[in-house]
Amino acid sequence: MFSYRHAFHAGNHADVLKHAILVQILDYFNRKEGAYWVIDTHAGGGLYALDGDWAGQSGEVKDGLDRLLAASEPPALISRYLQAVAAFNPDGQANIYPGSPCLALQSMRPQDHLRLFELHTTEIEVLQDTLAHLGKKATRHTQVAHEDGFHGLLRLLPPPPRRGIILIDPPYEDKQDYRHVLTAVREGLQRFAQGCFAIWYPQVQRVQAHEMARSLERLPVDWLHASLSVCKPSEDGLGMHGSGMFIVNPPWTLQAELEEALPWLAQVLAQDSGARFSLTRGTAAPQGSSRAQGQAPLSESPRQKRSPSRR
Ligand code: SAM
Repeated sequence: MFSYRHAFHAGNHADVLKHAILVQILDYFNRKEGAYWVIDTHAGGGLYALDGDWAGQSGEVKDGLDRLLAASEPPALISRYLQAVAAFNPDGQANIYPGSPCLALQSMRPQDHLRLFELHTTEIEVLQDTLAHLGKKATRHTQVAHEDGFHGLLRLLPPPPRRGIILIDPPYEDKQDYRHVLTAVREGLQRFAQGCFAIWYPQVQRVQAHEMARSLERLPVDWLHASLSVCKPSEDGLGMHGSGMFIVNPPWTLQAELEEALPWLAQVLAQDSGARFSLTRGTAAPQGSSRAQGQAPLSESPRQKRSPSRR
C-alpha cells in the first residue's frame, strides 16, 4: 500500500493554494439556490491536528498557513480561506487544519451532496471518525467509499442535479497518477461536460508532471490554470518546489480573485528567489472553428518569461 499520509503536509503552501481556490469555487456555487454535488476523488482524513505527531514532525505548516496568518492585508480570496480555516479553530489558535471534505461540508447547504473516495485503510477510518464527530449535518448527505477515486468518479457522472464540483487531488507518489488524472478528466468531461473539475498537481522535476499540465491545457474546454512556486527547483532533483491548480469550467469570478491573490501569495510564501506564479486561461473553440482552443497568459511574476521550455 502507499506511504502517503496527508497529515504530514496539512496546511503547507500547496494546501493553501488548493483550498483557497476550492473555497472560492464553493462560494460561487452557493450563489444559486440549485443543489450541487461535490465529488472528492482523493479525500484524505478530513481534519488534521497541526500540533500532532505527523504535522508537528514535518513542520510544513510553518511555510504555509502560518505565514499567511502572520502577514498583513491578505487579498479577498485569502481572507475568505483564512475565515474558513478559523471556523475549525474556535479558540483562536490554528491547531486544527480542515482538509477538502471538511471545507466542502462547511460551505455546503442541506440540499447539496458530498461524495468522498479514499483508498488508504487507515485514512478512511480517520475520515469516517471525523465525519461522525461532525454529526448529522456532515453525514446526512455524505457518502464515503473505500474505493479507487479515479474509477468511482466516472460512475457518479453526471450527478443528478447537473451541477457539480469535482476535486481530483491524488498523492502522485505513483507516477501513474498523472496518466490516471488525464483519463479521469477526459472521460469525466464526456459524461459531464459542464462540470467544474479542479485538479491539483505538484511542481516536481518529473517529466510526467509537466506533460500532464500541458495535456490539460490542450483540452478543448474553458479552463484556468494557476501555479505557484515557492522556491527554486532543488539541485538534486528531489522535492516539490510549488504546485498548481487546473480548473475546468471555472467560476467567472475566479480569474480576478487569483490575479489579486497570486502575487501576494508568491511574496508571502517565498522561500528563495525562485518564488513565482503564473495564471493562464484557455477557452473552448467556437463551434466549427479549426482552432482547438484559445489560450492566454493572464499574469505572471514580473521577472518570469513565458517560454515553451520552462512550462
Ligand atoms: N484532498 C485532500 C485534501 O485536500 O484535504 C487530500 C488528499 S491527499 C493529497 C491524497 C489522498 O488520496 C491520500 O489520503 C491517499 O491515501 C488517497 N489515495 C491514494 N490513491 C487513491 C485512489 N486511487 N483513490 C482514492 N484515494 C486514494
